[in-house]
Amino acid sequence: MKKKLLFPFFLALASLCSCGGNPASSNTIFVSFYPLEDFASKIAKGKFEIENITPVGMEPHDYEPSAKLIGRMSEGKGFLANGLEMEHYLSSLPSSLLDKTLVCSKGVTTIKNDNGIVDPHIWLDPSRAKIMADNIKDFLISIDRDGASFYQDNYADIASKFDTLDAEIKEAVKTFKRKTVVVSHAAFGYLCDAYGLTQKAIHGLEPSEEPTAATMAEIIDAVKKEGITTIFAEEMVSPEIANKIAQETGAKVEVLSPIEGLEEEDVGKEDYFSIMRDNLAKLKEACCD
Ligand SMILES: [Zn+2]
Repeated sequence: MKKKLLFPFFLALASLCSCGGNPASSNTIFVSFYPLEDFASKIAKGKFEIENITPVGMEPHDYEPSAKLIGRMSEGKGFLANGLEMEHYLSSLPSSLLDKTLVCSKGVTTIKNDNGIVDPHIWLDPSRAKIMADNIKDFLISIDRDGASFYQDNYADIASKFDTLDAEIKEAVKTFKRKTVVVSHAAFGYLCDAYGLTQKAIHGLEPSEEPTAATMAEIIDAVKKEGITTIFAEEMVSPEIANKIAQETGAKVEVLSPIEGLEEEDVGKEDYFSIMRDNLAKLKEACCD
């Protein structure tokens, strides 16, 4: 996994998008962003082609499919979305596509930020991610009843992976000396909610939200008071402000992934579980040193 920040490359990577030109296969299930691709691939296991519409290396919050791509998606077998306004374009999709769309957050207990906005980042809590996977399993069964036991078995596999990961995080958090983490955008609300941590986010629920002077002052104050040693940046958001806070407080900058996408070099090498464990290792270091 990449350790450095490579922000300038993202626009270049976006131009390498391979989705958009290929003819739609009636066997394709489209997904809005990476975690859904990973969960769906692990449950469908080759029975359907899973295509992520957000190009590799691109931040999904700001992404919108082109009319041409929406046309291809409409010809596919279905579309998996997170919901909770992760996909701002969702309600404007044609009804023919919405009719075969699964909103994977169905049944997940949500939390709101201080401004009353529902946080969409449910996948970063393994217990909630397990519900998303359960919804995906039910969706696959609904479109391929003959494969029901196959999807159920695959779901049981991924469900036990979520449980193991959950137990690992619970165990690790017991050793944390500090429970406050400074992160880039407010993606870790559910992770914090599940494990008794607190996030102080530089950006809001969307990476495009710039911090106010008051937010900056509050974060810098918290870093100094609580002896926080690490400021977390992320791969797809400029680390400029994180670097500034680090300079002012003497903290170091590390990368914590909100798992909203993979970068080109991680495709086929990393998955949700490996990145969650990488995040956990970094949190351990940041909260225990
Ligand atoms: Zn996000």
